[in-house]
This record gives sequence, structure tokens and C-alpha cells, in this order.
Amino acid sequence: METSIPHVLIFPLPLQSTINSTLQLAELLCLAGGLRVTFLNTNHNQQRLLRHSDVQSRFEQYPGFRFLTISDGLPEDHPRSAEQFGDIISSLQSVAEPFLKEMLSDDVAVTCVIPDGLFYYAVDIGNEMGVPVIIFDTISPSCLWVYLCLPKLIEAGVLPFKGNLDALVTNVPALEGLLRRRDLPHFCLLDYRTDQNFQAVFKEIERIPKAHGLILNSFEDLDGPFLSCIRSYSPKTYAIGPVHLNLQTRLAAKATPLLSSSNSLWEEDHTSIKWLDEQSIGSVIYVSFGSLAVVSRNEMLEFWHGLMNSKVKFLWVMRPNMLKGGESHDQLMKELAEDCKGTGYIVSWAPQKMVLAHPSVGGFLTHSGWNSTLESVVEGKPMICWPQYVDQRVTSRLVNEFWKIGLDMKDICDRSVVEKMVKDLMGTKKDDYKKSVETLSEVAKISVREGGLSCHNLDCLINDIKGLAR
Ligand code: UDP
Repeated sequence: METSIPHVLIFPLPLQSTINSTLQLAELLCLAGGLRVTFLNTNHNQQRLLRHSDVQSRFEQYPGFRFLTISDGLPEDHPRSAEQFGDIISSLQSVAEPFLKEMLSDDVAVTCVIPDGLFYYAVDIGNEMGVPVIIFDTISPSCLWVYLCLPKLIEAGVLPFKGNLDALVTNVPALEGLLRRRDLPHFCLLDYRTDQNFQAVFKEIERIPKAHGLILNSFEDLDGPFLSCIRSYSPKTYAIGPVHLNLQTRLAAKATPLLSSSNSLWEEDHTSIKWLDEQSIGSVIYVSFGSLAVVSRNEMLEFWHGLMNSKVKFLWVMRPNMLKGGESHDQLMKELAEDCKGTGYIVSWAPQKMVLAHPSVGGFLTHSGWNSTLESVVEGKPMICWPQYVDQRVTSRLVNEFWKIGLDMKDICDRSVVEKMVKDLMGTKKDDYKKSVETLSEVAKISVREGGLSCHNLDCLINDIKGLAR
């Protein structure tokens, strides 16, 4: 390969959601042409990706693209569950730090690094070695803005929160009057001096102004106020989302055949689509808590009873590792699948974008992961939110109170609440939420088309990278 062609090194978090959006970014850069792209994945996730997705055949058409893998430092039989996320990240750091140093010390190899925001050390190494770093933060911009305000909240003496969780949060401009304490990331209730999540977020936000730029998966019409605030810390903030829609639109414009486009780490169960084909339009609620959230057996049963009592048809993703404490859910899933026959259909992993695009799906009961939220917005499907970690509590509040495209169950898990919200979303309140989410969907489509801001921002990002030759 020629050395004068700019070479981008993409380094995502070892998570399904981040692998999804960063592979989409990688493909967008490949489509632009004139760039070499290396995607640095962990051995463990690369094996799963190659087994369950079509990435190999999809990326074969881009000669400038390659996968590179490193160990995450954990033994092969380590469960790597969401509950051990902090350990996975620090173990990966022990391998990735020296690896990046060596890779960047080759004076022509890499022109620009695009790491996840949590890999703060990649910014330090890039700055040390004179290689520009553009952070790709795949969480919601509103939550990233809350993160950037954490030092102010501490200075004002309001953290950690005690007392009334319904009290409104001050010191977060653009979100004042909207966010309650219970809408902040779960760790805001813990002690910032000792909590591991806080420490990681502090390191992340310190690096944002030190990086060359910042990429966010959103569009100006959705998150404009928060993007403006973030730009006061990182003027070169590129909002290029919804990234999956930007990619679909560019592939269609180039008449590149749209393959099934899966980046799954689990095997997708396509019988879910067959089952949806047999249901009537808008009649099904899709239930999924993403790739990480873990629930207790009791919570699972509250949702199950709530859904059954609502009498609304449902398609539910019960991931193999989704019960708290690593408990196997095989038996429970079998029993529930048997008992809900005729009303519900349960799979262990679904082709989610296809599911949300299906006309039989009328709503989404979600954990408010940022990818899931954007995918639902693009397909014009209103949501019921049951958020867990990181950005999900902020997002669910915005879904309900700011964008008005769904309901927020927040920290409640009760069968009667589930039943009522499902009935509301799929019945009495359906038209209002559907109308507002369909409007947002249209706006998202405009933003990624020629002349739209996400399309423009992506072009600016590509030009910026191309101008970084070493
Ligand atoms: N997803 C999927 N099939 C499923 C469940 C989830 O393909 O059965 C995908 C979904 O489309 C999304 C990602 O997994 O792109 C989950 O990301 P999100 O940010 O919503 O949540 P996280 O998994 O990080 O909590």
C-alpha cells in the first residue's frame, strides 16, 4: 500500500453497540475513497463477528480496509459479562497501551486515530507521538454534555445526590428544567471520589478538549442544543448520525448492492421476521434490552406478566447472558416461550434493524441504548423506555419530555405499569407519539441526504482526515 494515502486507525470499545457504529463509520470512510482504514478489534469479538455477521464479504470490496486484532488480556474462558465491564476495559488497556505506542511510533503508518472516548490513553499517546486523535463517542450527546458538566456539579456541592430524586438538576445548561436527579447516569448517586465509572468519565472528559476532534452519532435537528454546548469544549465536533442511515444512504447513492449488513456478535434469528410477516400492521411491540443489560428473574417475570396482561402481541429478545449473576435462563425462556404461544414470540437475538423496519411492529419496549433509540427514530417507531446504565436514563427522559416520542418507565419495574404503558403506547396515545416520531424520522432522512447537515458534517470530517497526512 502507498504510504502517502492517509491511514486511519479505528479502535472501538469491545461492545456490540460500539462495534456496530464504528464499523458503519469505517465503511463510510472506505466509501469516500482515498483512505486506508484499519479496524482494531479484540480477538474474542473478532471471532464472534466473523462467525455471525457478513463483515468479511462486505469489506472485501474495499482494498484499503483491514481488520487487526489484539488480545483483551483475558483468558479465553472468561465470561466477559456486562457486570465485569470495568475489568474488561482495564485488562484491554494493559495490552492496547503498549500496542498503540508501538504502532504510532512508526512514522508513516498511522495518520489519525479514532478511538472510543473511554480510551483516554489513546489521546495521550497520539498527542505524545504527534498523531492527531479524533474521538468517536458513541453515547448520546445529551449524556456526554451531562458528563462535561460533572465538575460543575461537584464544585456546586450537589454530588453525590441525596434525598429527593425528583428534584430538578441545576448547573447543566440546556437541560435545566428537564432533568431530574433520577434521570442522571446511575453512578451520580454514588461517591465520585471512589466510584470506578466516575473516574473513567473524568478521564474521558479531560481528554475531549485535547483531541483533534470529536465524532458523535446524532443529527443537528435532534440534539442541536447539546451539540452547541459540546462545541464549546470541542469546536471540531462532527455530528454525522444516524450513522447507520448515513451509510445506507451513501451505499444507495453509489448503487452498491445493499447486503444484509449485519455486524452481529450473536446469531440473528430470522424466524422473528417470518413471525412478524404473519401479524397485522402496527400490532406488535418489539421488546429488547440491548446487548448488555442484565435483569433479575423477578424483573423478567414482571415484564412477561405486564405484556401478557396487555393482550398486545410481542416479539421479545431474551439474550443468553441476560439474567443477573450469570444465571442460565434456558429453562425460564423455554417455559415463557411455551406459555405465550399465540401472543408472543421469543428469540435470543434478532436482526433488530429489520425488525424495527417491519410494518407489523408498532412500538419498541427498549432499555434506551443510544443505537436502539436512533434505529427506532429512523423507522418511526415510538418507544417505552426502561433505562439502565450510562446514557440511557438521560435518553429516556428526552424521549418522553423533550422529543415526545414515547413513555419513560425509568426505575420502575411493575407488571401493572408495564401493562398500562403498553396499552397506552399501542392504543390510546399511539397517534400522538407516532406522529412526532415519524416527523423526526423524516428530519433524520433529510439530514443524511445531499445538502443535509449530517451529510455535510461527514464530508467535513473526511476532508479533515485527508488533510492530516504526515
Ligand atoms: N441488536 C441486535 N439484535 C438484538 C438486540 C440488539 O442487532 O436482538 C443491536 C441493535 O440493533 C443495536 C445494538 O445491538 O445496534 C445495541 O446497542 P444499544 O446502543 O442500543 O445498546 P447496548 O447494547 O450498548 O446496551
